[in-house]
Amino acid sequence: MKIIDLTQTTAPGMPVFPGDIEPQISPARTFKAHGFFETLLCLCSHTGTHVDAPRHVFPGGLPLGAFEAAYFVGTALVIDATDAGAGGCIGISCIEKNRELAERADFILFYTGWDKHWDSGGYMRDFPVISDVVADYLVQTQKRGIGLDTPSLDSPGSGSLPLHRRLLGQERGFVVFENLCNLGLVGGNLFTFAALPLKHSGVDGAPVRAIAIL
Ligand SMILES: [Zn+2]
Repeated sequence: MKIIDLTQTTAPGMPVFPGDIEPQISPARTFKAHGFFETLLCLCSHTGTHVDAPRHVFPGGLPLGAFEAAYFVGTALVIDATDAGAGGCIGISCIEKNRELAERADFILFYTGWDKHWDSGGYMRDFPVISDVVADYLVQTQKRGIGLDTPSLDSPGSGSLPLHRRLLGQERGFVVFENLCNLGLVGGNLFTFAALPLKHSGVDGAPVRAIAIL
């Protein structure tokens, strides 16, 4: 069994979505004062590699805790979308090339290669996004979720988050994984994807440790 880590490291100074609070990681107790160490983690629910639940864009949408743990473990396929490039659109043609495998996947993860900009200062701008036709495909084929190696499902200037609303608005449930990395290491076959969030009450999203099990 081979494990590939698809998770960005959470650390002070990491890229955060414009307007989000930067993660604060500080000592809560110290060896010197208490004889043991404990860390205070102060994170937005969408910090680093994370999952969005419907509650993120719909006040009455399913919170993360409404999903069984098993929902976050399933068969996945990485789709090569590296042609999209900066500010580009990920079209249905990249799925057509792998349609047979894509039909059998619970999760479709789009490899754009945008994670290479993580430390460059340009990660939060001009990243590619999926087309409406790709979103329709994910709805029609009843996928459990989508994964991206970019900061968001919607483009930075989209305002009303139309793709989030389209996909997270499905009554049967859907989740969105953002800020994945290393998707180019997974290859073109089906694999087991696991990305479990901590079990917080009522939240709209949470960081995950995402892995590919080959
Ligand atoms: Zn998010």
